[in-house]
Amino acid sequence: MKKGMKGLFLLLLAGLLTLASCGGKEEIYTAGTYTGEATGNGGPITVEVEVTGSEIKSIEVTHQTETPGLSDPAIKSVPERIIESQSTDVDGISGATNTSVGIMNAVENALSQAKIDQAGAVSKLTGEYDVIVVGAGGAGLSAAVEVLRADNSVLVVEKMPFIGGNTTRAGSAMNAPVPERQHKYKMHESEIRRVEEAIALEPQNEIMAGWQATLREEFDAYLASGEDYLFDSPSLHKIQTYAGGDYIGDPEIIDTYGDHTVEAFHFLEELGTHWTEKVVAMIGTVWVRANRVENNKGSEFVNPQRDYIVANGGEIVVDSKVEELVMTDGKVSGVKGTRTDGVPFEYTAKKSVVLASGGFGANVEMRESYNKFWPSLASDVETTNHPGATGDGIAMATALGAQTVGMEWIQLIPIYYSETAAIYIGYIENLIMLNQDGNRFVKEDGRRDEISAAELSQDKKGMFMVYNPAKNDILVKSRIEKYDGGPYGFSGSTVEELAEDMEIPVENLLNAINEYNQGRENGNDQFGRAIYGEEFDVTADDIIYATWTHPFIHHTMGGLKINTKAQVIDTDGNVIPGLYAAGEVTGGVHGTNRLGGNAITDIIVYGRIAGQNAVTE
Ligand code: ADP
Repeated sequence: MKKGMKGLFLLLLAGLLTLASCGGKEEIYTAGTYTGEATGNGGPITVEVEVTGSEIKSIEVTHQTETPGLSDPAIKSVPERIIESQSTDVDGISGATNTSVGIMNAVENALSQAKIDQAGAVSKLTGEYDVIVVGAGGAGLSAAVEVLRADNSVLVVEKMPFIGGNTTRAGSAMNAPVPERQHKYKMHESEIRRVEEAIALEPQNEIMAGWQATLREEFDAYLASGEDYLFDSPSLHKIQTYAGGDYIGDPEIIDTYGDHTVEAFHFLEELGTHWTEKVVAMIGTVWVRANRVENNKGSEFVNPQRDYIVANGGEIVVDSKVEELVMTDGKVSGVKGTRTDGVPFEYTAKKSVVLASGGFGANVEMRESYNKFWPSLASDVETTNHPGATGDGIAMATALGAQTVGMEWIQLIPIYYSETAAIYIGYIENLIMLNQDGNRFVKEDGRRDEISAAELSQDKKGMFMVYNPAKNDILVKSRIEKYDGGPYGFSGSTVEELAEDMEIPVENLLNAINEYNQGRENGNDQFGRAIYGEEFDVTADDIIYATWTHPFIHHTMGGLKINTKAQVIDTDGNVIPGLYAAGEVTGGVHGTNRLGGNAITDIIVYGRIAGQNAVTE
């Protein structure tokens, strides 16, 4: 936005706020009752939140399927705490963490609708902006933040009634090698070997050879230092990302990606994302470099950006589905679409349009037509995706001649949490994976496609996960206790008891635990596992938990082909003028298989790049 315009908008907003304010309190909501939804421990939680212009007045949990008894204190106290502090950032109830977080997220979801109205932009049907962003997930919001930082005007158009997309459902961790955070972890022999293996891989091209040469130097310096903390670097991350996707990703895109991950971490931090101290290995990460946010909330990647946008004169419209990219004289010049209430809209982009409309994991027809790897991705295969992940951006851009890459690569996440299936506790250092007979069958720190395929090849097409009691934190306890006694949760105060509960031979369970402890000591594992947590002590005076899980459709790795400036490339290899894309709508970083923790990094890195370049048109 031009300085003068931004001033005018803020003035207008200030005027609106002053007019609307009463009793001297600042107006931050459009008064009314809003419905919010989020996932709790036992499924969706729905809340009705009543707000005045300046405060949260009441919260009612109107629908939930949480464990009776266990979740009652959270259902009673969390709304009270939120009202008392006028914030969703409150302490959860011990023993009912997921219910607590679910309620907080549902209230946050309701408030985000109230707050967006406060920007005064929701009912616009036309308008002219420097940049128009399609989709208010992590990528779109990052692009919008950068547009505003460059003093340009921006409108974010979102089709759902609320913002956040798949980003709010993310596994709440982001890969970035931030040494000061990783140094508290020790490096195991097996991890040293994993670095050496990365250096010894056959280079696929000069770019990869360059990463390997840099890594050799960095790792030699590390070894010479005599330190024993966990080593990491952007070059190791790039090699693992490229190799983890079977070299199908675009090395130039990965190079730019790897160079900006740490910056993206600090970008979010500056905007107000709350990081925990924890750095973990998410499932399929292959390295301990996933930085975790507080309360496992994906909204930590969304709300701070939304707040920045609203506070700096950016506008967001919701319930507005973009259906067409408008071209004028060979350049993308705006978007057209229809609001949920059936009213058409059209917005003009003076400079460019950024497509950040996410993937197509919830579009059964698309995923079935592109899938070549999995036996079936039909409607009976469950997905972790939000219902708006229907690939609209891919259809709109290809209608203008855009090129797609890697569309057939669709990720199944081997473990997930849902009412009907599994319990997702996503870091694997302290996990052992077993088949239905209680035998190990795969390396726990392997790739997601390998683990999912290995699960699907087992008789029962799923697996047990056994949790090291050394890491029985509140998350493990609260999640598993909910399911204990049913087909998904198991426990025992001894290995024998646990084996009996899981209905597997105790010798198999003991073998697997021995393998874990031995692999941790000597780095020799029959499946090649390299990442370990604490020693698994079977005599520990604590409950040992296990869960049963199976794969879910999670991420579509292919999408629009972009260059390192996030410009969309057409089928002849030329840039489509005025069109940028970022996030899950694009392909290029993840190849055949995305590493766990790489999605959030990708959307923030390329969302920012798209925003920074979109203003230069
Ligand atoms: P990413 O991780 O790439 O940011 P997300 O799934 O988090 O992707 O966000 C994409 C957002 O784009 C979602 O909120 C989704 O509802 C929105 N979206 C998808 N298609 C359209 C469309 N046609 N018009 C407007 N918004 C859209």
